[in-house]
Amino acid sequence: MPNTIRPLVAGNWKMHGLAHSLSELALIAQGSEQHKHCIDTLICPPATLLAAASNQSAGTCLAIGAQDCSSEPYGAYTGDISAAMVADSGARAVIVGHSERRQGRSETDADVLRKSQRVLEAGLQAIICIGETESEMLEGRTESVLLRQLKDSIPANGPCSSLVIAYEPVWAIGTGRTPTIEAIAGLHGFIRGYLVSAFGRDGAAVRILYGGSVKVDNAAEIACVDHVNGALVGGASLKSEDFLGILKAFGSIH
Ligand code: PEP
Repeated sequence: MPNTIRPLVAGNWKMHGLAHSLSELALIAQGSEQHKHCIDTLICPPATLLAAASNQSAGTCLAIGAQDCSSEPYGAYTGDISAAMVADSGARAVIVGHSERRQGRSETDADVLRKSQRVLEAGLQAIICIGETESEMLEGRTESVLLRQLKDSIPANGPCSSLVIAYEPVWAIGTGRTPTIEAIAGLHGFIRGYLVSAFGRDGAAVRILYGGSVKVDNAAEIACVDHVNGALVGGASLKSEDFLGILKAFGSIH
């Protein structure tokens, strides 16, 4: 299927960003304007900047999202942030199941599912990350790992309109390595096949982002791949110039 789905280019700032970084965000908002007719743009700053970033970006085409949230709706969970709190800050999306949480914080598919449910209940978009580790890839288990993550991390009742899947091979994150274009095409097609089998027509419209060392130099090539409906960008989202270059690459295709 050709890329008829409106792409989303999302930035994950991880544990980077202080109050002064809001000026970089303003540049991203400004630069995104020229692509707003064809691309949705999202930046996920650290939780400490969510409210300020949302306020600053109100009225622009840049949406703000969180990088994680609690799997509980509220309660005695010191230090955690609920999906409702994220919504209250003005943010519109939450990344769940990033590999730095699946691997680094031992989050299971069941945890990711519960977080996704909280995100959807709060009226936010859930960007659900999936991806195989290097050893899983080398053992030829990529598809079975992705299938398990898809089946066990996505809420059965959707709604699909609030779901985004980010395919991020763990070994490609922050390494400068990417799968071949053929491999990205094959795996995005595989993910689309699952979404259609699970959700029918609605599954055909869910955005599937590619993430893992997306840079200005490789963005155009990746943007052309069938069933790549945007990108989740880590390191290259920190500087407006780099991030806007990636937006431009997606804009030139769509
Ligand atoms: C990420 O952490 O989601 C990511 C894709 O990082 P990077 O672009 O730096 O590889």
